[in-house]
Amino acid sequence: KPKAIVIGAGIAGIASAIRLSVKGYEVDVFEANSKPGGKLAEIKMNGFRFDAGPSLFTMPQYVDELFKLAGKNPEGYFGYIKLKEICRYFYEDGLRLNASADLDKFAKEIEEKTTSTAKEIERYLGKSKTIYEVTHHVFLERSLHKIKSYLHWDTLKSIFRFGQIDAFRTQAKANRSFFKDDRIAQLFNRYATYNGSDPYQAPATLNIIPHFEYHYGAFLPKNGMYCIVTALVKLAEELGIRFHYNQKVEEIIYANGPKPEVLGVKVNDKTYKANVVVSNLDIWFTYKNLLKGITQPKKLLDQERSSSALIFYWGMDGNYSDMGLHNIFFAEDYQKEFNAIWKDKTISSDPTIYINISAKHIREDAPAGSENWFVMINVPANNGQNWDVLIKEARANIIKKISRLLNRNIEKDIICEQILDPRSIESKTGSYQGSLYGNSSNNQFSAFLRHSNFSSKVKNLYFCGGSVHPGGGIPLALLSAKIIDDEISSVVH
Ligand code: FAD
Repeated sequence: KPKAIVIGAGIAGIASAIRLSVKGYEVDVFEANSKPGGKLAEIKMNGFRFDAGPSLFTMPQYVDELFKLAGKNPEGYFGYIKLKEICRYFYEDGLRLNASADLDKFAKEIEEKTTSTAKEIERYLGKSKTIYEVTHHVFLERSLHKIKSYLHWDTLKSIFRFGQIDAFRTQAKANRSFFKDDRIAQLFNRYATYNGSDPYQAPATLNIIPHFEYHYGAFLPKNGMYCIVTALVKLAEELGIRFHYNQKVEEIIYANGPKPEVLGVKVNDKTYKANVVVSNLDIWFTYKNLLKGITQPKKLLDQERSSSALIFYWGMDGNYSDMGLHNIFFAEDYQKEFNAIWKDKTISSDPTIYINISAKHIREDAPAGSENWFVMINVPANNGQNWDVLIKEARANIIKKISRLLNRNIEKDIICEQILDPRSIESKTGSYQGSLYGNSSNNQFSAFLRHSNFSSKVKNLYFCGGSVHPGGGIPLALLSAKIIDDEISSVVH
């Protein structure tokens, strides 16, 4: 049997391992941490359970696909529900919106409470759908770095429609033209942050993202986000894939010569041989630490990183009936918040706050009469800021803002706390500067400035995960594994 080694058990590493195993490879996964999942992690504290990283699950079909590939029924491994409510929004002027997944209901609420109209929503989401249709084959599902990708008929059709993807104005500018009410423009501007970008710089092409939520739906795994990892690892182990935890790969070994070819990896000074190696770690660290003697693609590696996050995990004594699973407390001046993050590389005094409370659906995630709050704000990637000072200030500002908007002193309800910041995101998940999604998408060429899913220098070396093509977030990380799968079939067979 040919052998494959996957470096890192993040979501894309696990997906790549499953795909390679189904293809007939004997697969070993080396993971630096004591557990699989990478950014998709969980925290347990004082009877509370928190999903530590991602909380929003879209495109679950990409996970289901892995079970089906292996000839299994996904329902035997994990289940998920489709959410009836996408998110609750709280504004400083007192406006509250409970964005329903039922578009008619959502549009009606907007008509009743704001100066925007159902027609505006319809036009906007129509555009969102067009952008998806034009781009998904080209930018998401295939390699951008192989000529053959451009020879598909559907790719060519998409290229002829490129004028429709709104790449030449910013998302904020486009959304101002779609919506009369600034607060609705703000609501849709937020989608740029789904891949760690700035709506005032990023192209309006990012208006594709609401299509995932409003067309395909937002979901929640029945036992929380981390069970995506446990279910996939269970499948992987049943397939015979071996996971080696606390095993940090030190080097990727390749045969030198005019056409270098991968030979395996080095862990704790021991060499493990393989015909194929897939690296799931941040491409920045793959080049800096593992690929000795290979010229680095400086331009790609030096791209601006996506934003990072500051998260407070709070065990809260009490129930908050105003809040749902996903909640957003908007900054009053959104542009000021993004200027602070992107221009001043600091945290605004009035940040937009995202609160996820999985216990609203999964009662076991918090003791009776209490709730598990995942409280997150967007912050710049780590450039050596004085985080201890910034965190202290942000914590006070967050507590003040939520207490003001809920008209309730929330501080007295916090019974336990843990904090994750850009420094700990970097050290725990190996993400350069603690960025959540690899490079930012703050300019219209970003898609072309992400690293390819294969090495053009070392044969049979591949790259997957949120820092390479097609990008960050669970669905795209899973697609990176799928693209590799397509490439490897053409190499081996
Ligand atoms: P990663 O999770 O980056 O894992 C890489 C793995 O490689 C790690 O386990 C690491 O330990 C391991 N590793 C590193 N170096 C080595 C080495 N030398 N040897 C062996 N192993 C090594 N996405 C969404 O879709 N929805 C969300 O709501 C969402 N919210 C997020 C919130 C937060 C706070 C964070 C941090 C991320 C969020 N994301 C979200 C993004 C999503 O988590 C990531 O895009 C995705 O999980 C990245 O997966 P990956 O495959 O790139 O691997």
